[in-house]
Amino acid sequence: MNFEVVNINEVGDRRILIIYTGGTFGMVRDESGSLAPFDFGQVVEKIPELKSLGIQLAAISFPTPIDSSNVTIEDWKNLGWIIAKHYDQYDGFVILHGTDTMAYTASMLSFMLEGLNKPVILTGAQMPIGSVRSDARENLITALEIASTETNGNPIVSEVCIYFNFILLRGNRSQKIRSSQFAAFESENYPYLAEAGISIEFNHNALRPFDQNATLRVITEINPNVTILKIFPGITENAVRGTIFANNLEGLVLETFGSGNTMKSDWFLNCLSEAIEGGLVILNVSQCLGGEVMQGRYETSKKLNEVGVLSGGDITTEAAAAKLMLLLGSESDQTMLRKKLTMPINGEMDA
Ligand code: ASP
Repeated sequence: MNFEVVNINEVGDRRILIIYTGGTFGMVRDESGSLAPFDFGQVVEKIPELKSLGIQLAAISFPTPIDSSNVTIEDWKNLGWIIAKHYDQYDGFVILHGTDTMAYTASMLSFMLEGLNKPVILTGAQMPIGSVRSDARENLITALEIASTETNGNPIVSEVCIYFNFILLRGNRSQKIRSSQFAAFESENYPYLAEAGISIEFNHNALRPFDQNATLRVITEINPNVTILKIFPGITENAVRGTIFANNLEGLVLETFGSGNTMKSDWFLNCLSEAIEGGLVILNVSQCLGGEVMQGRYETSKKLNEVGVLSGGDITTEAAAAKLMLLLGSESDQTMLRKKLTMPINGEMDA
């Protein structure tokens, strides 16, 4: 695909590339009154300050901007490819992305961009840039400021993050938890990386340390044969079987109760055991936003250890799905695969 770079501002010490994928940020109402994405040229017209921030800015737009509900594995690969292609020319990247799947994209990029030592900050908006009370302007300008912040020429942030509504979050710890408030994102199991007020306060203890010697390698082997199953009281054997024995399925994120508990019915455990023996990799994550899976803490999770369900600890569902897709695509050693799923590979869970 041809992604053309357009210069926005050529004056300033730091160079940032904006990648516009779409999302509410740049949407307008179509004839029927629904919000649909429009092109990035019109976004720049709405934020003339971009030309006077003191940052060298350029932008690449997806040829057809998308509502992020339509994001695909191909789009993730394109983002990885754009970042790799322009890695040496820019000090950081700001990705404008719809909020609905931003946490999935941030999680996936955090795993795809191995050896990243520059900021990749995703942001977007709950209200389009054209509306008077829009949050788009603040989100973009502060994300750019964070991406361009440095000490001794090195970036303060050198990981994939989400900046939204005055907080900077680790990308693979983030979740969209509110659909109609400006404070859309949280990372319950990890502290904020920064908070923006009159000044931007960085949480240096939480940020990944800058690694001068890191070399970027973009992993694009992503296995799509993964799904998520959220259990609930009353779920039938039929529904469980239909999901976990789906054709070609290789990885399952099992969303369980509390600290990783499930029904202890024979049919359920037999299903899991049969699927695991058949090669399915099952990763247990909690339906709770905060806290972690502790298999064996209760009688209702002890058996999961015995049948071979892997504990996802305090990982989010979004990061678990992305990690499974990426590791099933790129890690051929089955022992390593299982090991990597139960330990942090890029700050996505506690050790
Ligand atoms: N549906 C939109 C999207 O994710 C919502 C948003 O951007 O806030 O693209």
